[in-house]
Order: sequence, then structure tokens, then C-alpha cells
Amino acid sequence: MNFNHCESLYWVFTQLCNDKCDHCYNLSGPQGARISEEECMQIIDHLPDTIDRLILSGGEPLADKKLLYAILDRLHERYQGRTQIMLQTNGDLLNAEILDTLIEKGVSRFDIASIDRYHKHAGDRLMILADLFESRGVNGDDRAPLVEKETYLIKGHPLSWGYWGATEDMWLGGNWARGRAIEKNIWLKDPNHNFCKVLSGGIGFLTGKEGVPQEISIQLWRINPCCPGTFKAMGDARKEKVADVLERVSTSPIFQKINDGDPISMGESIGISKEFAQERVADLQNVCLWCDEFFKSYFDIETLTSRFDPQS
Ligand code: SF4
Ligand code: SF4
Repeated sequence: MNFNHCESLYWVFTQLCNDKCDHCYNLSGPQGARISEEECMQIIDHLPDTIDRLILSGGEPLADKKLLYAILDRLHERYQGRTQIMLQTNGDLLNAEILDTLIEKGVSRFDIASIDRYHKHAGDRLMILADLFESRGVNGDDRAPLVEKETYLIKGHPLSWGYWGATEDMWLGGNWARGRAIEKNIWLKDPNHNFCKVLSGGIGFLTGKEGVPQEISIQLWRINPCCPGTFKAMGDARKEKVADVLERVSTSPIFQKINDGDPISMGESIGISKEFAQERVADLQNVCLWCDEFFKSYFDIETLTSRFDPQS
């Protein structure tokens, strides 16, 4: 595998946000965590040499606008327009002047991810945004999220926009057992739903899989196989190359199972049966909580060694 090529990379570069939604999985808000411009530049230096698409997200990227612009400038220097740059935004702070600047700085795809009841505006800015995009010739024909292997890239990177919101029927399947959704007790309690098996989950993070592109996530600096994020990160993008981190974990049968979207089987190579994992998921009511328990108690993600003692 050439880990210096990544099909899709999702980067939450800030958790600063003008909103503070109950379902927010990464605790973004007006007091959300941030990293410095210097750290962001280190991270960009450590990204793979080729990235088909890079999704910048938050938090609200436009709430940290100066940093966003600096990131876009450095990405342009490094990738020279070869990467499809996408912005995932709640759209609240977007206006004509900012849209012009974003287009000039290389953003070609805009995803408005706030059209739902959880967000402050609950979707009521949609028509204003539609008019704004139309006024700048941003195509609204591809409105569905670009989550399929067939459609994750729009050939030639023409300007386009789409929208969605946190609804039960979206591809993610409900609120993740993370962040404020846990605090507010609105995470999805369904042991039969496998978050790992859809894009944004761990599936295909090393190799891509039928139907989904290869995608990894960086939460501020934490390199994760998925957007919900593992209990500890696989690596620190400020300090090490993303390709080296992927290369390292790719040899582990545990991460190969995550790559299959199969966290129930991920302990088999260290003696933890599927039956035991299934029982734990049934108790915990969510597969990502089982994954947290696994990396907390049975497997050290930093040294890639087992902590499981079959005698205990
Ligand atoms: S869900 Fe989005 S808009 Fe809401 S607080 Fe989180 S990052 Fe901000
Ligand atoms: S099970 Fe683990 S690897 Fe899979 S999506 Fe959940 S947290 Fe990520």
C-alpha cells in the first residue's frame, strides 16, 4: 500500500464554533478547543503527498477564519490545486465576501451540514445560502453528501455545494456516543447499528472498500481511523507523518479488522472472542463504546501490544 496517497482526509482543525448543539460529537462551541497556526502548518507538512480530497471541518471553520485562510494558503502551496478542497460548515457566518475569498483560496465544494432541528437556525438559512451560491455560479446539482466511492470526487473540481443535517436517516445512522451527545444523553443506543461499517466509520481507512473511499480523520492533531475517533489516537499529526502512522498500524490484525468495519472481531487475534465482544456491545448499547473499552483495557494503541490476560 502507498500510504502517501490518501483518497479522502477529514480534518477538524478547530473546535471553535458559533453554535453549541446538543448532539455535537466533539464538544465544539464558543469555548471549543483550538490549536495554533504553527501546529496547523506542522500538520500540513505531515499530510500524505497526494490527497484526492481534503475536507476542512470543525467546530465551525468560519469561526476560526484567519486560521482557515492560512491553512488554505498553505494547502495551495503544497498541493497546487490537485486536491479537491471541501469545506464543511454550518453556513451561519457565510456571506458574499467570504464566499469569494474561499473560492479564490481554492475551496471547490461547500457542504452545509446544519439543516436539522439541532442547529440554531434549524435550516432556515437554506434559501439565503442557495441564492448566495447561485450568485457566484456554485453548482447546486450535486446536493447529496459525497459519500460513495463513485461520487466522492467531482471530476475537475468544479464549484458545487450540497447540504444535509443530523437526521436519523442520514448515512451515519444517528448520534455518535461521543462528546455532547453523551452529556445530553441523546446518543444512539442500538447494539445492532455498526457505525464502523459506513463512511465516517473505520471501514476502509487503510485500503478503501467496495462502496466507500479510503478515508481517515484528524481531530485537531489526533490521527484516527474514523470520525468518532478511537479511545486514543493512532498518532499525532503535529509530530509524525500520517503515512508513517498508517504504515505502522496496517500490520496490526486489530486495525485490519477496523479496516473491514468489523470491530466485533477485532480482539480475536489476542484471544477475545466475537461472542464476548457481542455481549459487551449488548451491555454498552453502542459499538463505539465497546471499541473504547477495547483500547482502554485490552490493547495499547501506542505500542500495538495486547493487555489482555486470558487468565483474569
Ligand atoms: S454540531 Fe456543528 S454547528 Fe453544532 S456545535 Fe458542533 S460543530 Fe458547531
Ligand atoms: S468502532 Fe471504533 S474504529 Fe469503528 S467507528 Fe467506532 S470508534 Fe471508530
